[in-house]
Amino acid sequence: MVVHTGRHFLQIPGPSNVPDRVLRAMDMPTIDHRGPEFAEMALGIMEGCKRIFRTRNPVLIFPSSGTGAWEAAMVNTLSPGDKVLMAETGQFSVLWRTLAERFQIEVETIAGDWRHGARASEIEARLVADKAHAIKAVMIVHNETSTGVTTRVEEVRKAIDRAKHPALLFVDTISSVGSIRYEHDAWGVDVTVCGSQKGLMMPPGLSFNAISDKAIAASKTNRMPRSYWDWAEAIKANKLGSWPYTPATNLLYALREAIAMLEEEGLENVYARHTRHGEATRAAVRAWGLETVCVDPLEYSPVTTAVLMPEGHDANQFRQIILENFDMSLGAGLGRLKGRAFRIGHLGHFNDLMLMGTLSGVEMGLDLARVPHKSGGVLAAMDVLKSKEETVEVARVAVA
Ligand SMILES: *Cc1c(COP(=O)(O)O)cnc(C)c1O
Repeated sequence: MVVHTGRHFLQIPGPSNVPDRVLRAMDMPTIDHRGPEFAEMALGIMEGCKRIFRTRNPVLIFPSSGTGAWEAAMVNTLSPGDKVLMAETGQFSVLWRTLAERFQIEVETIAGDWRHGARASEIEARLVADKAHAIKAVMIVHNETSTGVTTRVEEVRKAIDRAKHPALLFVDTISSVGSIRYEHDAWGVDVTVCGSQKGLMMPPGLSFNAISDKAIAASKTNRMPRSYWDWAEAIKANKLGSWPYTPATNLLYALREAIAMLEEEGLENVYARHTRHGEATRAAVRAWGLETVCVDPLEYSPVTTAVLMPEGHDANQFRQIILENFDMSLGAGLGRLKGRAFRIGHLGHFNDLMLMGTLSGVEMGLDLARVPHKSGGVLAAMDVLKSKEETVEVARVAVA
């Protein structure tokens, strides 16, 4: 057993590093969740969530991981036998399809190569062909955490509108809200599904449904049994600052602090910071002579970079070497990328020198694992960070 010193580098694309401020905020007595102090806090958090998800409608908070919020989205709006359209963009879209099928939802899948986002034109073509409006919802993953590819949700919205199709739009933002620009209302999303442990800088354990009026209307007539996930009961209780069951009180303390941190930095600055770290990471990958899984520059993820291993080299062995030598966890390749790719998370509570530490660990790991590459990735990333420092400084001054 190797004894490591200093801080562990948790550079998987979620759970992300939890700021000390958020950890401290949780380290408080659990209070009466039916008392006045709690209700006041809860109402404040619900308003804060609306600002982060960019919506005027309720944002429902569940004590669960992100998968629970996906289930909540489906059982509140769809009925057994309903058909939905999903774009296969990576492992997370595959998991959602499996979940939907367990609820007897018929899933029409648009196949993908796992190197692109959902294509708006293909979604439009499928919807135009669906003259009878059998498709009840379009489901897409905003940031495919398994591939480092971001789908342009606005484009998908426009495609649904051009097809004049009434399908609901569901978006998985589990690794994007709080780190990548996201607009629930402006992009006409009906159900936004999110989790606490990625862009929102919290531990795992809370999940979210941001919902539109159209989604609420669908929830009044759909036929799917549900109890714990029921929106109507939650909306009713939430109006008074409570939940129909015991909420995760201490995680709500964490959420309150995380929202405060995001707003102190300013959402625009948060988005710009992630974009910049994504650029610096890809500069390193290019300099190493390696390839990112994402191939379209318009779809590069600002929060995670998946890197393909050269033929004959195992990504998991490489990750193991880095973990043992440098106490850094990198993300594994998932599903069909298992062993073939590794993922660098650069999201949440993160800064330039954390990124440089991360990339240094990767470059040393490439040497130790004898993975063919060129040196100089770390220097290339430093150049990007230096060249962009000025703009960031101006942005900070403008906010202050
Ligand atoms: C992490 C993640 C999930 C799974 O969420 P859990 O919190 O593990 O249930 C689903 N979708 C995406 C895009 C994710 O990044």
